[in-house]
Amino acid sequence: MMSTSSNNAVTFTPSTKAAFLQYLRENPTNRRITQTDKDSLIEWLTNPHKRPTSQKEFSRRNYIWKTFTWDEKTQNLFAVAKPDEEKDRKVVTEDTIADVVECVHEGNKHGGWDATWKDISSSCYGILRSDVIHLLKQCQTCALNPSKRPKGSAATMGSSQPMDHEFLDFLNTGDVQYDISAWDAQENGEHSGE
Ligand SMILES: [Zn+2]
Repeated sequence: MMSTSSNNAVTFTPSTKAAFLQYLRENPTNRRITQTDKDSLIEWLTNPHKRPTSQKEFSRRNYIWKTFTWDEKTQNLFAVAKPDEEKDRKVVTEDTIADVVECVHEGNKHGGWDATWKDISSSCYGILRSDVIHLLKQCQTCALNPSKRPKGSAATMGSSQPMDHEFLDFLNTGDVQYDISAWDAQENGEHSGE
């Protein structure tokens, strides 16, 4: 019996997440990363004996070397920061997009589309803006708070859900330290992420 679920709105219901996975399957793009993609990237980055067998593969390998980095210590795959970006971004595979968006969205106290996209795009690789919007439209908490405006209304949040602890645990998985304070600091601004 889960009696606590009656009053506490979840961000994304299990059916929302299932529907989102279906949506991903129906709208494939090489800008997202599947688990298979990720395994392949890690292979190219970590196996010095793996050799390209064609010009195409040679180009792909060089692109991968330039674009991604494998953190041996934390066992995490990152997209290397471009000159105009602050930091490397963690590669997020398709199957965890909904969970990551949920955590970030809860972490910024149900910020709006722009704020949540900014937080996502500055720290994660492999999530599209349209994915974020698709999911945020399904957020149960935002749906139950019609007074909630997309931006700058974090202070009105009265939730007693113990989300912060879980949020931190999630972000600290693999000893990766995210700059959470920076995420909370800004509400506006554009980021033309992937
Ligand atoms: Zn929300």
